[in-house]
Amino acid sequence: MRSKQELPAAPGMPVRPTRTTRARRGGNAAHLRWMTRARAAGSAAPGIAVALGALLAFPAIAALTRPAQAAAKPLSVVTTTADLAAIAREVGGDGVAVVSLAAGYQDPHFVDAKPSYMVTLKRADLFVEVGRDLEVGWAPGLLNGARNPRILPGAPGFVDGSSQVQVIEIPSAVSRAQGDIHPFGNPHYWLDPANGAGIARGIRDGLARVDGANAALYAARCADFEKRLAAATARWQERAQALGLAGMKVVTYHRSWSYFARAFGLHVVDFVEPKPGIPPSPNHVQDLVNGMKRDGVRLLLMEPYFDEKLAAKISRDTGVPLAIVPTSVGAEPAIRSIFDLFDRQLVLIGQALKEARP
Ligand SMILES: [Zn+2]
Repeated sequence: MRSKQELPAAPGMPVRPTRTTRARRGGNAAHLRWMTRARAAGSAAPGIAVALGALLAFPAIAALTRPAQAAAKPLSVVTTTADLAAIAREVGGDGVAVVSLAAGYQDPHFVDAKPSYMVTLKRADLFVEVGRDLEVGWAPGLLNGARNPRILPGAPGFVDGSSQVQVIEIPSAVSRAQGDIHPFGNPHYWLDPANGAGIARGIRDGLARVDGANAALYAARCADFEKRLAAATARWQERAQALGLAGMKVVTYHRSWSYFARAFGLHVVDFVEPKPGIPPSPNHVQDLVNGMKRDGVRLLLMEPYFDEKLAAKISRDTGVPLAIVPTSVGAEPAIRSIFDLFDRQLVLIGQALKEARP
């Protein structure tokens, strides 16, 4: 039912990849990248001619590359999540060195605040966070500990990724008292591909503040990214249409999929977590199972970092297929860009739906 690219776990071993297997998977990714490049170089003389033609036809592409002398000291951008890092690379290009603190396979609400992250932040020219309290449990302490006033909230080097995005599910009263970890609206906004444009613009403006000399370059790269994103989004919409996602009733584990559902027409009817961040009680799970059977739910959607055993049991008890779908760049070695992420998400959802058919 699931098609995660995992190494098979030995009996009694944890299902999640260990540090060693992750390193090995990273190695595979590097190897694959090399293979892809080698293959492209060895077999694509006509392709190269086409690419050269395209370059000559569109001299504007040359404007997306930083002049060599300016690239000597790359600007240091540190993001909280790998998705923001992927978008920062799109906007910043070669002249910007981007590091994400959290890895794509981690729950972004709960990340170990390692002391080494402070060292990374100390040297940063620009800091980008998802905001809306997504990282409230781990990022503020790191920022304070780094003693780098250039990237503190309000300083030119601080970017709240949500500042140019329309955030949904803003509660009428801040409800953190009951344990809700989305008190300022749903922070999982990068999962609507259209929001990539708003995130990119926030980063573009931040880069322009700390590196005004290259502001035109960042603006051109941002516009180019937005254009490619819009074209890809149209393709993803078509794929979602072909999969019959419009109006399909789904249950999701955490409230991570609200933007994704809105983008592709899914109808989220319930959640495994009774509230974001609150683990389900047996009573809640029983009510959920009954509701899923009654309401004709077609898909159970889970982030890779939650309790797979519970989700698998709910899937068995209801006959509703479970799709374990990455929510971030880097969740699997092959997901290296925002484009890879949505491609992979739709593939995995398609596989789960197909396997569910008799
Ligand atoms: Zn959340």
